[in-house]
Amino acid sequence: MRILITGAAGFLGSHLCDRFLAEGHEVVGMDNFITGTPDNIAHLIGHPGFEFIEHNVTSFIYVKGPLDGVLHFASPASPIDYLEQPIPTLKVGSLGTHKTLGLAKAKGARYLLASTSEVYGDPQVHPQPESYWGHVNPVGPRGVYDEAKRFAEAMTMAYHRYHGLDTRIVRIFNTYGPRMRPADGRVVSNFIVQALRGDPITIYGEGEQTRSFTFVDDLVDGIYRLFHSDRVEPTNIGNPGEFTIRELADLVLEMTGSSSALEFRPLPQDDPKTRQPDITIAKAVLGWEPRVPLREGLERTIPYFRQLVEEGATARAM
Ligand code: NAD
Ligand code: UDP
Repeated sequence: MRILITGAAGFLGSHLCDRFLAEGHEVVGMDNFITGTPDNIAHLIGHPGFEFIEHNVTSFIYVKGPLDGVLHFASPASPIDYLEQPIPTLKVGSLGTHKTLGLAKAKGARYLLASTSEVYGDPQVHPQPESYWGHVNPVGPRGVYDEAKRFAEAMTMAYHRYHGLDTRIVRIFNTYGPRMRPADGRVVSNFIVQALRGDPITIYGEGEQTRSFTFVDDLVDGIYRLFHSDRVEPTNIGNPGEFTIRELADLVLEMTGSSSALEFRPLPQDDPKTRQPDITIAKAVLGWEPRVPLREGLERTIPYFRQLVEEGATARAM
């Protein structure tokens, strides 16, 4: 198959490129580097199955030759990124989704949208099944991301229903692993970098809010299976293991052997209090469930950040 992956120079997009290439597919990567970096795909340059196009997907997309799949992963994904880039975030989720859907339709390609657990907002149902419609503040600071993704899901289903496009929607829960940007502000990268540098660990609020953390290899495997399945409706992919932010801080301190202090800061507006995927559907339909527990995933992630910290590449890290 020949597959287009938008957001290919990002954290998840670059791992997806690796997986599709490893399975023998051809991959066209596309990115405008707004939050991604050429470093994430440097190892793929010169690979016979890989080509890269630098392009902003909110404008008309031209790809020469056939495509069998389009995976739309382009979007700022970390809260600090989408707070800094609110309008590009809204545009890539809306216009970028429209352009990539149009491309998939023109090429007769299967389409997979990277959606997010943020469509559930600050959830009032716990854990969150796909049937839950969510609890999102459209005009709060996180609304630019959450509503863009909700629009993207609606647009994807409209292309499926109206144009008969073969579509998939993955709702991704917090994912971590090598190639996260050390300064992307997400909790796992922040805590590891802070611990390795001996800086204070910044806990927002009391640290009693929970998240479920998925190791990147598990996520990519779930997405690969979903892409090859025939499930059209949104599908949660995430690790149901749920931790408070305080527990994560303690685990990172223990595993890095760091003596960093804990520093409590105000909780950002609309910060969800809980987050845990219901993965009944992924298990039943895809035969998928996560295999990497948090401790093992952190063991596989910390060395990546240790190397960056030693190289001094984390200057913007907080
Ligand atoms: P990332 O910021 O590392 O990667 C996103 C990539 O998209 C970057 O390389 C960026 O330069 C590119 N991009 C953004 N706007 C673009 C545009 N207009 N044109 C071309 N390229 C553009 O983020 P990530 O963590 O890899 O997230 C990838 C996708 O997965 C996003 O759609 C995100 O919403 C979704 N997601 C991620 C998580 C997570 O925990 N990482 C959770 C839920 C959903
Ligand atoms: N968080 C924190 N300290 C940090 C970064 C984040 O306590 O240095 C908290 C944040 O307020 C949220 C949780 O960790 O409750 C997860 O934040 P992240 O940015 O990783 O993703 P979110 O799930 O909020 O999109």
